[in-house]
Amino acid sequence: MMKQFEVPIIYRSPLITAIKKKRKERDKMKKDFTPTLLDFGPLKIYLARHFGFCYGVENAIEIAFKTVEENPGKRIFLLSEMIHNPQVNADLQVHGVKFLQDTYGNTLIPFDELRPDDIVLIPAFGTTLEIEKKLNDIVIQTEKYNTTCPFVEKVWNRSEVIAKQNYTVIIHGKPRHEETRATFSHASVNSPSVIVKDMEQAIALAGYIMGEKPFTLFYEEFKGQYSENFDVGQDLQRIGVVNQTTMLASETQAIADYLKQIMELKYQLTPENIGGHFADTRDTLCYATNDNQSSVTSMLETEADLAIVVGGYNSSNTSHLVELCEEKLPTYFINNEEKIISSKEILHYNFYTKEEKVTSEYLPGKQIVKILLTSGASCPDALVEGVIRKLAGFCPVSDRMEEIIMKFG
Ligand code: SF4
Repeated sequence: MMKQFEVPIIYRSPLITAIKKKRKERDKMKKDFTPTLLDFGPLKIYLARHFGFCYGVENAIEIAFKTVEENPGKRIFLLSEMIHNPQVNADLQVHGVKFLQDTYGNTLIPFDELRPDDIVLIPAFGTTLEIEKKLNDIVIQTEKYNTTCPFVEKVWNRSEVIAKQNYTVIIHGKPRHEETRATFSHASVNSPSVIVKDMEQAIALAGYIMGEKPFTLFYEEFKGQYSENFDVGQDLQRIGVVNQTTMLASETQAIADYLKQIMELKYQLTPENIGGHFADTRDTLCYATNDNQSSVTSMLETEADLAIVVGGYNSSNTSHLVELCEEKLPTYFINNEEKIISSKEILHYNFYTKEEKVTSEYLPGKQIVKILLTSGASCPDALVEGVIRKLAGFCPVSDRMEEIIMKFG
């Protein structure tokens, strides 16, 4: 049984809580990933089986709001965004919490303005050892206000195990993401480490493993992604892979398999002696990433007209849900229901161009429109309920919305 957290009621949705509860009761072993149908007559919404706040996010929110409540008059800072949700971050700011850095680690308030009795919250993504040391040097105790998710700590532990067996740690993750920067810092204390962003970079790395590319090029190509004193000739002979917890499961598997094959090829290995050059471990994706992606894959088996994904635009796990949906049907990535301007227009985010744009006629002119709906692990259920209400409002049955939701099939 997962721990229950106290998060502000404004983030909850009684309707969605009821749906999740009912689905859970029917599926105790968590084997059923089919979506929940909310039937508004001309509009059918298929809600993913798993979505919304994960363990790490609820834990972080609970600690943050409790800290605010229990420390009136104290200055409270967040190292950077608490989680990747604009509403939650804004609410914390309203409560007087200030941000020391932006999401990319750029300084907003210099550390030398901190005083020993200030409180600094460490976000769910964790932080680097360098920053932790800086804070401890100003006598700021971080343990009590550290909201690092245990699933992120698991990645650090795995890196340590791999490092202690003298493998170089290959981190599959987004180089600028807080979690990957933290993992890189923890891994590189124990062993040489490199961050690999995607399959393209895994292939690029393979070029150096195979000795096909001049080593000097590595330092250019992987700039900012390798540990100090990295020796391309030496440090790619024994490797092990860990992942940022929120990567796309299919790509994660493909990258690990690919690098394993490259090592087999380079050193003529068999399954018996592969361990000599490749740490044969499982991925380090977290349960929420797996559940949410499996739910989307299952939801995509339903024929539908479009998908809507709700979440923060810089949220890694959410962007992968968008990617999965986009392969199959028109997908709109929004961060709240207000982005649904009307039944004719929607303002949505394109994470390739990093811009929001308006699309007209996003609802097809059909008698029955089917929409797939999900959200990321840092998105409050209240926002998803808002989206459902907004869409249902376009239907003649909107006054019976609650009744219909509770009757879901
Ligand atoms: S997405 Fe996973 S790793 Fe990240 S906070 Fe949630 S449970 Fe933890």
